[in-house]
Amino acid sequence: PEAITVQELANRMAEKGADLVKALFNMGMMVTVNQTIDQDTAELLVEEFGHRIQRVSDSDIDIDTSTDVDPEEALQARPPVVTIMGHVDHGKTSLLDALRGTDVVRGEAGGITQHMGAYQIRTKGGDHVTFLDTPGHEAFTEMRARGANVTDIVVLVVAADDGIMPQTIEAINHTKAADVPMIVAINKCDKEEANPKRIRERLLEHEVIVEEMSGDVQDVEVSAKTGKGLDELIEKILLQAEFLELKANPDRPAEATVVEAKLDKGKGPLATILVNRGTLKRGDVFVVGTESGRVRAMHDDKGKQVKEAGPSMPVEVLGLGGVPMAGDQLLVVENEQRAREVAEYRQEKATEKRTAMAPASLDTMFSALA
Ligand code: GDP
Ligand code: MG
Repeated sequence: PEAITVQELANRMAEKGADLVKALFNMGMMVTVNQTIDQDTAELLVEEFGHRIQRVSDSDIDIDTSTDVDPEEALQARPPVVTIMGHVDHGKTSLLDALRGTDVVRGEAGGITQHMGAYQIRTKGGDHVTFLDTPGHEAFTEMRARGANVTDIVVLVVAADDGIMPQTIEAINHTKAADVPMIVAINKCDKEEANPKRIRERLLEHEVIVEEMSGDVQDVEVSAKTGKGLDELIEKILLQAEFLELKANPDRPAEATVVEAKLDKGKGPLATILVNRGTLKRGDVFVVGTESGRVRAMHDDKGKQVKEAGPSMPVEVLGLGGVPMAGDQLLVVENEQRAREVAEYRQEKATEKRTAMAPASLDTMFSALA
């Protein structure tokens, strides 16, 4: 149960602390304004003073934007967010690197990259595609478990010289559970022992029926090593994205998802976020998980300072009060006071939850045994 100081309670009731002390004295309690009283006593006092007890609910303090739907006319097309999954050593990292290499912007900039958990490419045709560059399945499932569904499309990598392996099956299951469309990239097709036909057949056993087997799952033969099929893979991603009609309202306070976060010795807490809707701007005040902050600076995946980030754009944000968790939602709020209020409320709730889950003391364990 919650405890509160006499003064705090007086403040909340807009009464004088001394009057509460007096009332408590009449109830047989000797306390000063700075001492805490338990919840039952507090409730008695509140009634004594003729106030109504109002239990604070989540909706009073916390923010819930899930019912806040953007009007159709405010929606604009946004780039797809793609996660690459597959068995270890089938070439996920190599493919992510190779796809990053197709970025025309990076080509212009000279190609310095900083690892950021997500990156965006601009294709030759001028379209944008965002790739999540987080260690595969775990990030995907953990974010989903935390209610964050940032992936629009999954690219399943299967090595043409290997086969359907345990993590391939796991990836298929996760993708199906998330109801996210899949594109199969049959990788290592440069190898002599590559046998893409066999991969397509084996996929049938897991109810993944690719186009060439008269199904509706797009598939493409690629080589992360030679670059074969990469353009075709990007085309198929864009085709799938078009079909999904991905849209978001860029003209509203930003909502974003934390993809990755860490504490940097020099810069403090850093978070790579992906904007879901709205536009995040430098100077914006926000709450993210149990932390609050203000955007001091933002960098894109090429290390370039940016002033704002729109839907599906990954950026690294500086200016957080602490390190959030992957999957946490970042929400822009009106002012710092509001951000702190929400963050503190969430921190309290998190502490309560931890306390409630704390293991039973030895005493209670023994009495339970007796
Ligand atoms: P991950 O574990 O799925 O991230 O796989 P990696 O990207 O680390 O690749 C595993 C190994 O396969 C590395 O030695 C890569 O050089 C190699 N590899 C990845 N893609 C290709 C490819 O298209 N062709 C060939 N020949 N080797 C590849
Ligand atoms: Mg890897």
